Amino acid sequence: MPLKLYDTLTREVREVFPMDGKSVRFYGCGPTVYGPAHIGNFRTFVMQDVFRRVLETSGQKTYHARNVTDVDDKTIRQSLAEGVPLHEFTDRWSKYFDKDCEALNLLTPHVQPSAVAHIPEQIVLIENLITKGKAYKAEDGSVYFNVSSFEDYGRLSRLADREITTSVTERESSDEYERDSAADFALWKARRPEDGENYWESPWGQGRPGWHIECSAICMKHLGESFDLHSGGVDLVFPHHENEIAQVEATTNKTFARHWFHIAHLMVEGKKMSKSLGNLYTLEELSEQGYSPQEVRYVLLSGSYRQPLNFTFDSMKASRKAMSKLRDFATRFNFIPTTGSTLETEFGPFQPVQEALLSDLSTPEALGRCFSLVRELSEAYEKGEYEGRQDALSEVRRGFQATCDALGLIVEAKKEDVEEIPADIANLAEKRWNAKLSKDWAMADLLRNELLELGWVVKDGKETFEITRSSE
Ligand code: AMP
Ligand code: ZN
Repeated sequence: MPLKLYDTLTREVREVFPMDGKSVRFYGCGPTVYGPAHIGNFRTFVMQDVFRRVLETSGQKTYHARNVTDVDDKTIRQSLAEGVPLHEFTDRWSKYFDKDCEALNLLTPHVQPSAVAHIPEQIVLIENLITKGKAYKAEDGSVYFNVSSFEDYGRLSRLADREITTSVTERESSDEYERDSAADFALWKARRPEDGENYWESPWGQGRPGWHIECSAICMKHLGESFDLHSGGVDLVFPHHENEIAQVEATTNKTFARHWFHIAHLMVEGKKMSKSLGNLYTLEELSEQGYSPQEVRYVLLSGSYRQPLNFTFDSMKASRKAMSKLRDFATRFNFIPTTGSTLETEFGPFQPVQEALLSDLSTPEALGRCFSLVRELSEAYEKGEYEGRQDALSEVRRGFQATCDALGLIVEAKKEDVEEIPADIANLAEKRWNAKLSKDWAMADLLRNELLELGWVVKDGKETFEITRSSE
């Protein structure tokens, strides 16, 4: 069964398949590394990870590219404010991001190109656009994309539906602009005093690339002129992805990405979780409040990616309970999770979970089905239906592993609370055992009572004894 997924461009749920018949090649816009990513950002990264996991657990190979935005208005501003060289500053936050990704059990992309490492590719793409008459140099040495030269501009974000004309030539030099206007946008930004020493040489003079051209050049280099799927949070539909399409398709005359996957926002009290609003939570902050990354991941999976998801501490508590139930199941079935790149593909009794995921990545439905199965299988186990049926038990374990792999959850069996036995108690118990061996029953009983008074119970086996805390 193939994965069916909503496509922002056609507004339809469509099958995802590899155009080369081998591997689904996809791109996810990566983090802007100027501070810790918040869990809103991670909603998007977790859903991209689930997309890849669902494909892989259904036997489909993937090739995943995710960039690191290490030069833009924000990284430059912040590094200058801290008085740290840009590369040192972005390197620090990039490493921090990797650490968070690992904690959240995100698969490492096959390639993670950085913007700064691809300046020559971006310059070549801009030169191409100028040669084709799609871009022009402004008086200050900046280069702009000529939006009116690209007929399809606005197709992804349906600009035309909002009756906005592309004939006005306004210019937009900031990387992220709010207005739904078809303004000519910057491909290359001429050096400005506020950028400090952060500039590169180019055919148009010193400057730096704009944000949109970075992703386009990286996609073309690592995935080709045409590839299977492109993705990000919904805030990237306009202008970022609209501009990416324009830059590439105006150059190649080919379809850039065949499928567009956008993830709705994580919200706090009706507002998008974002740095600018200051209403964000990071993994570190949540861990200080006692919540594990796996519990955060569970919360992020609890809503459909097509709908905004409201973050609350009640949902964190519910997630903790849910994870605990999964751990009970793992304990009962003696399940030991395997992690790493080998993805198990036998869902067995957990097939309904896989079906929900293949149907437009319905994570809430998949979790609901997973819990129904966990309940049913546990009841059957308690009734003794698995006694002496090793094969059936293994099938359940394999199916549960496949479910965990597809959702990226790590579920470990609960460890019994083994209390350490104090040395004096252990000595007394040893003495009693020896008394018993030498058939000194009176001494053995005396010592047993002494231990009982101290709160410990001795139970004798054939070869040795066991000592546990008394229940009173
Ligand atoms: P940034 O680091 O700002 O470039 O964003 C990284 C990714 O997080 C992008 O795909 C954004 O669209 C996405 N994103 C930002 N805020 C949220 C949010 N509140 N909920 C979901 N995704 C978000
Ligand atoms: Zn991008």
